[in-house]
Amino acid sequence: MDVSYILDDLNDAQRDAVTADSPGTLVLAGAGSGKTRVLVHRIAWKIKVEGLSPYAIMAVTFTNKAAREMRGRIEELLGGQLHGGMWVGTFHGLAHRLLKAHAADAKLPDNFQILDADDQQRLLKRIHRELNLDDSRWPPRQSQYFINGHKDEGRRSAHIDNPGGDLYLTTMLQVYQRYEQICQQQGVIDFAELLLRALELWRDNPAILEHYQQRFKHVLVDEFQDTNAVQYAWLQILAGKGMPITAVGDDDQSIYGWRGARIENIQQFSKDFADTRIIRLEQNYRSTATILKAANAVIKHNSQRLGKELWTSGEEGEPITLFAAFNEQDEARFISDRIEDLLKEDYRRADIGVLYRSNAQSRTLEEALIRAGLPYRIYGGQRFYDRLEIKNALAYLRLIALRDDDTAVERVINTPTRGIGNRTVETIREYARDHQLSLWRALLAIIEGGGLAARANNALRGFVSLIEDLAQQTADMSLDARVDYVIQHSGLIAFHEKEKGEKAQARVENLQELITAAKSFEPEDEDGDELRQFLDQAALDAGDQQAAEHEDSVQLMTLHSAKGLEFPAVFIAGVEENLFPHKMSIEDPSRLEEERRLAYVGITRAERKLFLSYAESRRLYGQENFNSLSRFVREIPSECIDEVRINNTVSRPTSFASHSASQQRAAESGIVLGQRVLHSIFGAGVVLSFEGQGASARVQVNFEDEGSKWLVLQYANLELL
Ligand code: ATP
Ligand code: MG
Repeated sequence: MDVSYILDDLNDAQRDAVTADSPGTLVLAGAGSGKTRVLVHRIAWKIKVEGLSPYAIMAVTFTNKAAREMRGRIEELLGGQLHGGMWVGTFHGLAHRLLKAHAADAKLPDNFQILDADDQQRLLKRIHRELNLDDSRWPPRQSQYFINGHKDEGRRSAHIDNPGGDLYLTTMLQVYQRYEQICQQQGVIDFAELLLRALELWRDNPAILEHYQQRFKHVLVDEFQDTNAVQYAWLQILAGKGMPITAVGDDDQSIYGWRGARIENIQQFSKDFADTRIIRLEQNYRSTATILKAANAVIKHNSQRLGKELWTSGEEGEPITLFAAFNEQDEARFISDRIEDLLKEDYRRADIGVLYRSNAQSRTLEEALIRAGLPYRIYGGQRFYDRLEIKNALAYLRLIALRDDDTAVERVINTPTRGIGNRTVETIREYARDHQLSLWRALLAIIEGGGLAARANNALRGFVSLIEDLAQQTADMSLDARVDYVIQHSGLIAFHEKEKGEKAQARVENLQELITAAKSFEPEDEDGDELRQFLDQAALDAGDQQAAEHEDSVQLMTLHSAKGLEFPAVFIAGVEENLFPHKMSIEDPSRLEEERRLAYVGITRAERKLFLSYAESRRLYGQENFNSLSRFVREIPSECIDEVRINNTVSRPTSFASHSASQQRAAESGIVLGQRVLHSIFGAGVVLSFEGQGASARVQVNFEDEGSKWLVLQYANLELL
């Protein structure tokens, strides 16, 4: 059997990693050095050469999309389908699969539901109300953060001591306990719980653990640097006693510390897993030499590093473009203009990634792309399955599958509006609480009891018969016909059509897109309940960083979501102090280093072209900010950068329109908005606005070192640059 082709497109170090027969293998290497490729080829090697059954392999990826890609690439290499036997997925996906198979042992009902972040918050709000906690003092978000943070570390409420009786902790623990109780009652589990439950399942059921220890002959993990405590413990309990394990990662790309990821797991690995061999890859195949040089120079400023240097035999490439925009609008226009230029060359839209630090930045960028008629997709943030209308439609489907789903009832009991007011809903909640019932059962009992006003009672009856009707009518339909029927007859489509406007239109389109999703859905378990599997997949996708499918659209995403991806051309928008690095991280050295790793991740996504841009003035979260250029850009050697200056074509923000006369006058003195000027004391800066006339004419300048200042034009003696 000729298997050499599996090693054909690999360098020596990569081949070494693919064929290594050490029990523990840790591939520690920088961005674009082929770590993910090594994993794929290693799996093919195990199957084809070492004769391992796909059934005996478990591979962990960082996103569901990466899992699908990995499966596809392995099938390509093997020249055949893998079918369901091999376990490939995210930690969450695999934990879900495990819990499904052993629901009873995990103390869960067979039909347990996944509670996504949004539902989780809704439930916490309810608990806060129940405990009479004032939202302004005790925001539900805080409880959410508290609970998830502890779960990521493997701690349940019972594990947390509170010897001092501290009020904050007492309150949080009260919420956490009640939350655990309700989740258990309802049979719902959140994302962090998926992992924790899966860990406890193995820990508390030796026979089940042993079954998997015999089944799996090799475990492989991508993006290992971002595993959290529970994920690590899960790997350890499975493979700690000699099951071969391969992990690939890059300490310089650990960017989820804020969500509980632990870089230390990399150092810990060789201690916890027998006879670990560490393999380093140093050749980068992704980026031009210029881009790589910039990335290396930036990450060098971090002190906490295992230390690696990347090189490439590729070409020098073009310099990195740095654009100083007048404001965020101008920046967005620059980006859409450059994208249009790229499309005239040999780039496709999907070859272009636009990355940013904060989700809120996307709106301006989106508007510019819409104006330019450029199709785009957003990864993360407003993910498809996170969208309001989709969650509403899914809630109806969930109710069809299981009436006792409280979160679903909460979501659609009055959406579209059907005259069930807050008071009625509150009555139902109370009844449910007092009688330990699900909301659905409580509302049935209330209808029977006839204690409500006739109108409210009728409205409730209407809701019940709607759900029953949807369930009955669609029982024998195919999945997509079911979805179609539900979005029509629930009234959701009509509801959004009535709203009018572009946003409403998009909502209608999204609902229709859900039918497409149902059509192309392939259930993992052919004999199982298709609707259930579809709903589970949707919940998992909503939690995924990159659920969106690849299409020929410009790819917009946060820097965090870009991990593991690559694009021929990359834009990083908003390279400004206080935005990137984020102002919350500037004061704390370790968080600042995490921001720098994020910069490294961003830069190394680019294959051929990289554009960085910043705005002299930026409106974000409703505030005007004047930030200087990000330190990360200043850390890039100047020979790598080609700076594009602001020019006079900058359009003026409407808020300045009333000053047009003075602007005119100032313009006569040669100064225009966006003009770069030099002041003898304050140095160089950019003109932001004007005020007044003649002797009282004043000009606002944002100085590079001194920030924004108002100066009397007559005395300022500004030199034009
Ligand atoms: P990241 O750290 O960003 O996840 P990575 O180390 O996983 O990166 P890959 O995504 O596996 O790197 O590889 C980067 C790019 O280089 C891919 O396009 C891959 O196909 C290509 N590549 C990797 N190794 C080789 C090789 N030996 N020859 C040619 N191309 C390669
Ligand atoms: Mg990778």
